[in-house]
Amino acid sequence: MRYDKGKGVLKNWLVTEDDFDPIFQGKCETIFCQGNGYMGMRNATEERYINQVRNTFVSGTFNKFDDHDVTELPNAADVSNIDIRIDGKLFGLDKGSFSDYHRTLNLKSGEVTREFTWKNQEGKAFQFSFRRFISFENLHLVASKIQIKAINQAANIEFESGINGQMSNSGAQHFHEGEKRIFDKKYVQMLQQTTQSKITFIHNTVHSVNLGVAVVVTSRFFVDRRKVFMTYSSELGTDQTITLEKVSNLYTSRDREFDTLSLQHLRDHSIKEIKLACESGYNTLQILSAKVWAEKWNRINIKIESNDDFNQLAIRFAQYHLLIMTPAHDNRMGIGAKGLSGEGYKGHSFWDTELFMLPFFTYTQPQLARSLLEYRYNTINGARKKALENGYKGAMFPWESAWADDGEVTPVWGAADIITGESTKIWSGFIEQHITSDISFAIWQYYQVTGDEDFMDNYGYEILLDTGIFWASRLQWNDDKKEYHINEVIGPDEYKEHVNNDAFTNYTARWCIENAIHYYHLLKEGKPGIFSRLNAILNLESEIKELEEKLPLIYLPNPDENNIIPQDDAYLTLEDIDLTKYKNQEHVGSMFLDYSLSQVCKMKVSKQASVVMLMYLLENEFTPEVKQANFNYYEARTLHDSSLSFSTHSIMANDLGNRELAYSLYRQAAAIDLGTNMKSSDHGIHGASFGGLWQIVVCGFGGIRMIDGKLRIEPKLPKEITQIAYPVYWKGNLLEVSVNHEILCVKNKGTEPVAFSHLGKQYKVSSNTELKI
Ligand code: BGC
Repeated sequence: MRYDKGKGVLKNWLVTEDDFDPIFQGKCETIFCQGNGYMGMRNATEERYINQVRNTFVSGTFNKFDDHDVTELPNAADVSNIDIRIDGKLFGLDKGSFSDYHRTLNLKSGEVTREFTWKNQEGKAFQFSFRRFISFENLHLVASKIQIKAINQAANIEFESGINGQMSNSGAQHFHEGEKRIFDKKYVQMLQQTTQSKITFIHNTVHSVNLGVAVVVTSRFFVDRRKVFMTYSSELGTDQTITLEKVSNLYTSRDREFDTLSLQHLRDHSIKEIKLACESGYNTLQILSAKVWAEKWNRINIKIESNDDFNQLAIRFAQYHLLIMTPAHDNRMGIGAKGLSGEGYKGHSFWDTELFMLPFFTYTQPQLARSLLEYRYNTINGARKKALENGYKGAMFPWESAWADDGEVTPVWGAADIITGESTKIWSGFIEQHITSDISFAIWQYYQVTGDEDFMDNYGYEILLDTGIFWASRLQWNDDKKEYHINEVIGPDEYKEHVNNDAFTNYTARWCIENAIHYYHLLKEGKPGIFSRLNAILNLESEIKELEEKLPLIYLPNPDENNIIPQDDAYLTLEDIDLTKYKNQEHVGSMFLDYSLSQVCKMKVSKQASVVMLMYLLENEFTPEVKQANFNYYEARTLHDSSLSFSTHSIMANDLGNRELAYSLYRQAAAIDLGTNMKSSDHGIHGASFGGLWQIVVCGFGGIRMIDGKLRIEPKLPKEITQIAYPVYWKGNLLEVSVNHEILCVKNKGTEPVAFSHLGKQYKVSSNTELKI
């Protein structure tokens, strides 16, 4: 991997792979994934190799392959494959020899290019160039362009390309055979329907071949099982270049704009669009998409000046992925833990969205954050059903969530146990319940940062109240101690199952109940209309008694004599083992080569931030001494085996003044996908970690926090970083913040004055002015 190829205006915008080895294909397929939130496509090379994973996912198009499976995003028909034959022989980099290989993702424009010189076994040499993008201007469009130049001898070139529906998700085939057709000997169309959710996918593709001179290009088409293809062949003279452009589009019957249109309309529309796109050609379409990218970057661009350009590239890389994976166009859809970049986690949404990715959207693109929270609102009936099925009241959100009506979709069985060889049961869908608090917290955070009353009136208050009702009903009375406990859960640290009184769960559940009580009174007095609507749905007048009675009796794991908050009732009594080997591991999860999960559950070892996460979320509840003691205690025992973990520990280390550790954890977080580990991304990118990176830079180093509804800006830069500049919106006002080791500068580009605190002092920056501290 190379990170320094971008020069001039492209400095720190390019990520480059400078050699090709089929063993490591997963790396760049994933991290060079392209998309626009509507769809995403792995960057598998045009030509085929063993172990390649071609994936095209369309947000929200979940399907359940069979009764024993959970619903997942189906791998749609592929248009990225283009086979090339030279003098009748299939081209591949593993045949002949190649030099000057570069594949580059341009984060600024979303385009991936690939170039190399290749010589076949007969000594004929060719210059290859590939380009591909998914449009942000037209969410349905994908285009690619191949150019081949014959360097020393003439050759016959043949392209075989079309729409390939012989795809599956690791063998699970989600589509029926479908309908295939070629219009005007040119426009290739395939319709396929998902087997259970009955979503129709309409694919169209069209090619144009050009040699710059009038030569005969022979074209043929053929239709096969789940496949419809064209071939184009032509003679190519020495020094001549042949160009193939392929433009494809993809629509589904789940697209919102087509809710009211018939399938025939959708087909007609898609064909009309592909014809127009074909007339425009690759270059024009690419420029249009790049324009939209430029607008997006304008809004979110962060500048980092430091001793290593990788820092700048890493934050852009994270933001690139956050943009391409997020379905900004439709509030019925959430973000998958791996975005649209791989089969991992099946396209399901986790707490990753609310606590890790959402702050990026809340602070920079509030409309989009709202859409993601509306998605959660759209799942509330499933959450209520889950509560009822488990004997509780209120809204109990699923640990993993897919289509709004699906309810809980966490798979029940996972990897094999090293001791027994049996599949281990995944308990998260049953007992990892903190997701309900996480969603409630994110809504409150969104509200405090944006002041979006309309969202609260229509969706937010209902969730805040119903999550409080859930937790009150979930509490368990302990008669010996005369207090309420929460037993039999998994907290954020998934290396501890079936625990009682997980600190993160208890504190955040209590926060939900307290917050619900607060808004109950606020609505009753201040918004009687909303109150009476919600009272009718949620029975607030009678539920409030339970909430108020139980609140003071909830047990919170308090700091012990050493200031340590027990992660759960048992954690502090577990066996401490020497973790050096696992702390220095090359690949995550190395403990499981030696121990089974049930053994790990009995050791003082954590997968990821849990108590530290709690101290970050509810930071006002803990003194600096408690934070320091717990950070030291849990950091020593945390393996960061989940990519969610580094960012929280980095921010906390920074808060506590350990800037060196904060920076080193930031670098580790940045390296998860972008770094040189060629195997860490095979199943898809780590979306939460990208959100976490944004939080380290803006909320950690950059010092932005919302504390009890108020803005605080207290930056602390590590010594390696000399300056950071970033945009954030506070209640609709754009603030451009820049900070170096001496000066904090806040420019208010909004229409209202914005107040904030800094090291205990209050400041106010008026509209269109700049304040330097
Ligand atoms: C982590 C969870 C996370 C999930 C999806 C798991 O490995 O432990 O916290 O939600 O991955 O990213």
